Amino acid sequence: MSLIVQKFGGTSVADVEKIRAAARKAIRAQRQGHRVVMVVSAMGKNTDRLLELAQEVGPNPPAREMDMLLSTGEQVSVALVAMAINALGSEAVSLTGGQIGMQTDSSFSKARIRSISTERIERLLDEGKIVVAAGFQGIDNDLNITTLGRGGSDTTAVALAAVLKADACEIYTDVDGVYTTDPRLLPEARRVDVISYDEMLELASLGASVMHNRSIEFAKKFGVPIHVRSSFSDTEGTMIVTEQESGTAPVSGAAMTPDEARVTVLGVPDVPGMSLQIFSAIAEKKIAVDMVVQNIGDGGKADVSFTVRRDDLQATLLALAPVIEAIGVEGVTHDDHVSKISVVGANMPDQAGVASEMFRALAGAGVNIQMITTSEIKISALVPRDQASIALRAVHEGFKLHEKPDDAKSWSQIKADREAGVEVETLISRLRDDALEALTLTGISVLDHQARVTLMGVPDRPGIAADMFERIGAAGISVDMIVQGYDGEDGSTSVSFTVPQDALEASLKVAEAIAASHGMRGVQGVREIAKVTVSGIGLRSHTHVATLLFETLASADINVDMISTSELQVNAVISSDAADTAKRGLEKVFAGSLG
Ligand code: ASP
Ligand code: MG
Repeated sequence: MSLIVQKFGGTSVADVEKIRAAARKAIRAQRQGHRVVMVVSAMGKNTDRLLELAQEVGPNPPAREMDMLLSTGEQVSVALVAMAINALGSEAVSLTGGQIGMQTDSSFSKARIRSISTERIERLLDEGKIVVAAGFQGIDNDLNITTLGRGGSDTTAVALAAVLKADACEIYTDVDGVYTTDPRLLPEARRVDVISYDEMLELASLGASVMHNRSIEFAKKFGVPIHVRSSFSDTEGTMIVTEQESGTAPVSGAAMTPDEARVTVLGVPDVPGMSLQIFSAIAEKKIAVDMVVQNIGDGGKADVSFTVRRDDLQATLLALAPVIEAIGVEGVTHDDHVSKISVVGANMPDQAGVASEMFRALAGAGVNIQMITTSEIKISALVPRDQASIALRAVHEGFKLHEKPDDAKSWSQIKADREAGVEVETLISRLRDDALEALTLTGISVLDHQARVTLMGVPDRPGIAADMFERIGAAGISVDMIVQGYDGEDGSTSVSFTVPQDALEASLKVAEAIAASHGMRGVQGVREIAKVTVSGIGLRSHTHVATLLFETLASADINVDMISTSELQVNAVISSDAADTAKRGLEKVFAGSLG
């Protein structure tokens, strides 16, 4: 008998009528012959209300008490949903996180799941009951109530689907699926039929609010197909699965992260260990650092730029103060009127020119790009906040995201392909029953025989990046990593990119022509560099990965030239000589997490 997990978000259980509607959906599934587990969030905005209440009682509430308080929201809904099911003539039992055996670590307000015991749920299902489980909560070793972080009910649902080996995991919400970008920001956004785990992981961590990003980590690790659909209609929504919708479209989604801040540390001595000191001081304060760009300046000094959430800016500057004192930098600048625009697409790696298309779209809308980072399936650009909406629209239009790609596949076509034996890449990770949410790495690799080209003194105005990468593309040069960051000197920026070593001469020629036509300060080429990559799942939410990478390289006296991070990869560009040492060092450090 098939098992289905149905998750209902806060808006789907916001009032009595909606609770009844959710109950009816579960009963219908049961009458169709499924075993049904429901996962329910707190009603409407109840979690927000509880948070406000706590603030009224006093500042800085203890984290443990906060979780005790917030978990009550879900407890109210599960009881009411179970009552509604019983009133409609079926049998249901509500269970708290503790009662479903959801064991977590003790990091209150952002606990990670260790294990789930399924016996009780299975026994109740065998008795013909619908199980109504509280989302978002668990218990630690000492039976303290913990919560998984805002939006965590999604993660409860997917985790339950994984351990119960459910046939389907349906996420009922107030939107009817996943869109190419947030439809509240851009009404022309298109609902997609299918999106891959990798794409959804990136989009969720960029702030696409449909799904909690840790739930996608789970889904990918355990191969759980997720169906995101509306709780107010019966239309099919979006399937989140291994496969992607199109085999050719370079971009599947765009996202805007509105409230970012840029920090630049100027004149950092360009010797190993400096970035480590900077970033570990920030990491210690549990502040997530996002776009990281290191500019190799003239004269042995580097400028290190990165972004943090705007709310974290003050804390970041405070954390930096002692470090910049200690290492003797030239200064720190910041800008908290910036937003990040990103495009994500699983076909990107074999699509030259995606970056230049994005930059052209931004240039066409008169948007100035302040920073750029690229990684395997994502390109991000930092832009002025007052241009962020224009920028998002321009990029969405530029990639024609409102149109369905010609080769788009539906979920039923993908299922047919699977049945016909079309291979899908499945993750071979070592899944430990006692550490369900532990870091999972899939590999550590080195791409050697690369070269770096840096353009210095790139004028800070719209259209330059577009022109650069169009000309490089036109010369048939394939570019891997691109970073652009603040240069400090005159408000200009510098842009670095990597190319295969044998394309260095040709790249330098093009770069010199570009530099001459835009009056740039100069061009630098470095042969013999390598890119080391740590790949895995949820690397940005497991923030220590980047820190460990820096630590490992610094302790081996290896200087980092360029950095990029995503949910799937952390990349560092270093000198070729150091590649073997770096790889061995990283393999040792991450031995316990390699699948
Ligand atoms: N009630 C929690 C929140 O509002 C968990 C959830 O809804 O997923 O964040
Ligand atoms: Mg939610």
